[in-house]
Amino acid sequence: MGSYLKTSEKRRSVIAFTGLLCIISILMCACASDLEMEQPSTSTDAYESPESTTVQEEPSTIAEADAQSDTTAETEPLTENTVEAVPDGLYLDQNTLSLNAGEVYGLQITWEPEYLPGELEVRWSSTDETVAVVDDQGRVTAIGAGSCSITAVCGTLSALCEVHVLVPMTGIVLSQQQLDLKTGESVSLTVDIMPADTTDSWSAAWSSDNPSVASVSQEGTVTAVSGGTAVISVSVGNFTASCPVSVTENIPAETTVTGRVVVLDPGHGGKYDGAYYFGRHEEDMSLKVGQFCKEYLEEHYSDVTVYLTRTDDTHLSEQGEPDREARVQFAKDRNADILVSLHFNVTPEHNASGCLAFISKEANVNAACTSLANSILARLSALGLQNLGTFLKDSDTHFDASGRPYDYYGINRHSAKWGFPGIIIEHCFMDNPADEVYIADDGALQRLAIADALGIADYLGLTAK
Ligand SMILES: [Zn+2]
Repeated sequence: MGSYLKTSEKRRSVIAFTGLLCIISILMCACASDLEMEQPSTSTDAYESPESTTVQEEPSTIAEADAQSDTTAETEPLTENTVEAVPDGLYLDQNTLSLNAGEVYGLQITWEPEYLPGELEVRWSSTDETVAVVDDQGRVTAIGAGSCSITAVCGTLSALCEVHVLVPMTGIVLSQQQLDLKTGESVSLTVDIMPADTTDSWSAAWSSDNPSVASVSQEGTVTAVSGGTAVISVSVGNFTASCPVSVTENIPAETTVTGRVVVLDPGHGGKYDGAYYFGRHEEDMSLKVGQFCKEYLEEHYSDVTVYLTRTDDTHLSEQGEPDREARVQFAKDRNADILVSLHFNVTPEHNASGCLAFISKEANVNAACTSLANSILARLSALGLQNLGTFLKDSDTHFDASGRPYDYYGINRHSAKWGFPGIIIEHCFMDNPADEVYIADDGALQRLAIADALGIADYLGLTAK
């Protein structure tokens, strides 16, 4: 609001003002006299009177303005005319301004009584230069959202203009320009308002031109419903932005994993031959047992998926020991619940008989290994095989940092590392005629495979079809 002085205050300020002029004039007079005495030739005025000349020598002062309007001011007493010539009121053409950021407005001063503008020094200031700044000509530049006061001060006179700066919205931007989705997928779109500090109040309205293909919530979440194309739009104020959406049908994977995952590992294969006795190769028998076991599990249980690490006479990797790590990795890659490696045993004396299992000693899987192995061994012993139980074997080449040996067998060691039980089943001793009845033909191998399957089903608690 303007600085309006009451009449009595005006009078006081006029007296103060004129009193000040007298003092300034006298000081200047003395000062200029000194100057003239030293440099008389600098005077370009034709005044004869040194007293008059001294006034003209000093420019840009209130005293000069006074002298120009009444050159006798300093030699004559102050008259009523002199008082009238001094402003006793300072007003701005605007008491409030509403500007958009970046806009400029030149505030105009009105003096009362009317006064030649620009001859008195006016100090301009802003109470908050992050909102608006003002130059020494009263030009106000709106900077950022908010309110501040612009003040003009001249001596004891002042005036004020309240400035409100608005930041209007200039546009909107969507977080995505294009979406490719599969049915069932959802993506959240966001809308950015330009500029971010707009003072405009706003809300977003979302819509889809084809909700049967892609729908959108009022929070901007796009959901792919069915194959096709749609355009998602958002409206904010006078602005609209769009995002085309292409939806493809989500075709389920060819094989859907259901229930528990069993990985069977027919031992040996490829260049890693197993034992060979009585015209039989271990790698051939382990593959047959694996295939029969997988067949039986899938045929009789509804909640199991079975993988074989190999389905022919191959090895899995050129690296490893010889390729055990690759077999465990195969199981890990399929999220195996268990890994059962299928083997047949031999001894140097060729006189041992029965079934046994090698399990991991590692604490994270030892109990699971024990339980799984015992379930299978129990089913094998039900066929008449002697159950020799579970065995641990320490590595002589793999140790932890403290020198403690890991499991000897890679199947046990690597499975423990990945956190699932991996065991080795030695079905019987293929080098002893006493166990030959259990491997004599495919029917015998199938009986071993079914025993393995039943033991696995027992352990996993599979559901019979
Ligand atoms: Zn073997």
